[in-house]
Amino acid sequence: MKLINRLLELIRRDTSDENEAGYFLIGLRTSYFLMGMYFVLFMCVGAVFGMWSHVIYAAIWLAMMSAGFWQTFHQSYKSMFAVYIFLIVTWSIISICSFGWNTGGQQFLLPLLVMVFFCVYYSTKKKIFIMLFLLVVRLGLFFYSQHYEPRIPVGYAESTILQVLNSITLFIGITAVGVIFSSNLQGAEKKLMRANEKLKTQAGTDPLTGLSNRRNMTELIERWRSANPMSNFSFAMADIDYFKRVNDTWGHDCGDEVLRSLADLFKGKVKGKGYVCRWGGEEFFFFFPDLNLDQAKFEVQGICQSVRGLTIPYGQQELHVTMTFGVEENDFTSDLKELVRQADEKLYYGKDHGRNCVIG
Ligand code: GH3
Ligand code: MG
Ligand code: MG
Repeated sequence: MKLINRLLELIRRDTSDENEAGYFLIGLRTSYFLMGMYFVLFMCVGAVFGMWSHVIYAAIWLAMMSAGFWQTFHQSYKSMFAVYIFLIVTWSIISICSFGWNTGGQQFLLPLLVMVFFCVYYSTKKKIFIMLFLLVVRLGLFFYSQHYEPRIPVGYAESTILQVLNSITLFIGITAVGVIFSSNLQGAEKKLMRANEKLKTQAGTDPLTGLSNRRNMTELIERWRSANPMSNFSFAMADIDYFKRVNDTWGHDCGDEVLRSLADLFKGKVKGKGYVCRWGGEEFFFFFPDLNLDQAKFEVQGICQSVRGLTIPYGQQELHVTMTFGVEENDFTSDLKELVRQADEKLYYGKDHGRNCVIG
């Protein structure tokens, strides 16, 4: 178990860079490792049958696969994959020429083909070119084996063992490559979904106050409207009174602090009753689904009063601001823009009539 964990650790080493196709390196190292194991088994089979030249031959290939595996830690993925393709094609050719078609040496080309198609570094043109190359190699080997006898005639038992060994390597190879690349695709898809979610939230959030922005609020209301066409709703437009003075007297940072404090107050106030957004600049917008004008006015009056009573500490100062609100309800005929314009009119009526009030 410990050994397997060490091996997995080794295969995964330096593959966690988000911008690199680390999964491909994992697939490549696994393939080198599997081929190494294949040659270990090949050596065992050679030893059992007393074919010592085979054992030496397989040991040389084992050394080459091990060196290839090791070089994946030092050389680029691209060059080590090219070396892997070269080694596998060469082994297929040697295997068929030596032992004949029936031992199944041609099967090594298939997992290679799967790997080529998952290689992000290759263009589709290059992938198709390699596919055609592998096809030509395979057909060439087939016709060669039709016309020439294997250089090393193998008996029924050896041929069966080789066929079994090659088939097992083929299946494990394709499964390993498939599992690594498909789980990477699933992982990438999940990562993409999370990133999209984050982008969506960022796009709908005002960075200063953490409230929804106008776009998000407009979408929310339109969605709610089409889902509840017969239901009443109310909303309010709110604007800070003499906010320019805050900026001019205490600076822009102080103005920002006022906006943040008000946003925090609003979040608490509307919880469970409605929604609030930063409409833009020093304007906020409240949306109360299921409240009629009178109910909404009552809520907004409470908010207006809380603003009045709010103390905003800034450095050595304690600031106080007031706000003016225009409340409107759904009239079931106008579009959202028109409804907002009506609320705006009420707000400006309030501004012209003393501010610090709720007009509904
Ligand atoms: P009124 O009572 O008529 O609304 O007066 P006012 O001074 O609030 O109105 P005005 O429209 O003249 O000024 C709004 C100010 O809000 C001007 C602008 O600099 C400030 N402002 C808008 N967005 C921000 C912001 O993100 N941060 C800060 N600090 N100030 C902002
Ligand atoms: Mg304004
Ligand atoms: Mg203002």
